[in-house]
Parts: sequence; C-alpha cells; structure tokens
Amino acid sequence: MENSENTVIRKMICIMCPASCHLEITEKGKEGEYLVTGNRCPGGKNYALNEMRDPKRIVTAVVASDSTKIPCIPVKTDLPLQMDLIRGLLQKLFSMKIHVPVQCGDVLIKNYKDTGVSVVITRSVEE
Ligand code: SF4
Repeated sequence: MENSENTVIRKMICIMCPASCHLEITEKGKEGEYLVTGNRCPGGKNYALNEMRDPKRIVTAVVASDSTKIPCIPVKTDLPLQMDLIRGLLQKLFSMKIHVPVQCGDVLIKNYKDTGVSVVITRSVEE
C-alpha cells in the first residue's frame, strides 16, 4: 500500500518461477534497506533485493569469426555480470575475431575484469 511514509519506489515481476509474482519495493528508512511485498516465497524477496542493490544479467552475443561457413559465433557469460559492466563487455566482444576451430564450452574471455565471470563459446565450429 502506498502512503507518504511508505512509498512504493519500484514495481517488478519476479522471474524466478512461472508464478510471476508482482513485487512492490518500498524504502524502509535507511538508504539501501528495502521492504518487499507481493512475493509468495523468500526467493522473490532475494530477487527484488538483488535487483535493487546489485542487478546482474547473463550476457549473450555473437562474435565475428574467420570461419568460411559461420561468420558469427554465439557466446555467453557463464554467470550473471553486473549491469554496469555489460556495455564494455559487448564493445570488447564486437571488436574481437574468433579463430576456428573452436568447441562449444571453450573460454573466450576468462575472469572478465576480475569479476569471476567468463565468456564461453556456445557453438562448435570446425572450419
Ligand atoms: S516470489 Fe516466489 S513464487 Fe513468486 S515468482 Fe518469485 S520465486 Fe516464484
């Protein structure tokens, strides 16, 4: 419920399961302290707090290759990456060229900016 002391500052849909709960986030008073409502389980609260404090996403992209058959090879991060680092990662990926052959699961970029997140190739290409 919204009122002057308990204003909803963000609404979001939990994507952790098909129930798709509609979450509302209010500030608790202290900066960075939030109250989450609308969740049917603790997973929704964790999802909302992560979205408010440190949102991350799995990044998918294609990278140019020197293959004679597959000009762009799909890649993805092995873990979610902080959203403020995604643009820089995409710029790096779009400037690269993969030399074939490569196997699905090969690491293209290891431990990007010391985040513990690596970029892996998701398609094998022989030539
Ligand atoms: S809050 Fe719980 S039940 Fe609702 S969508 Fe998220 S994980 Fe599913």
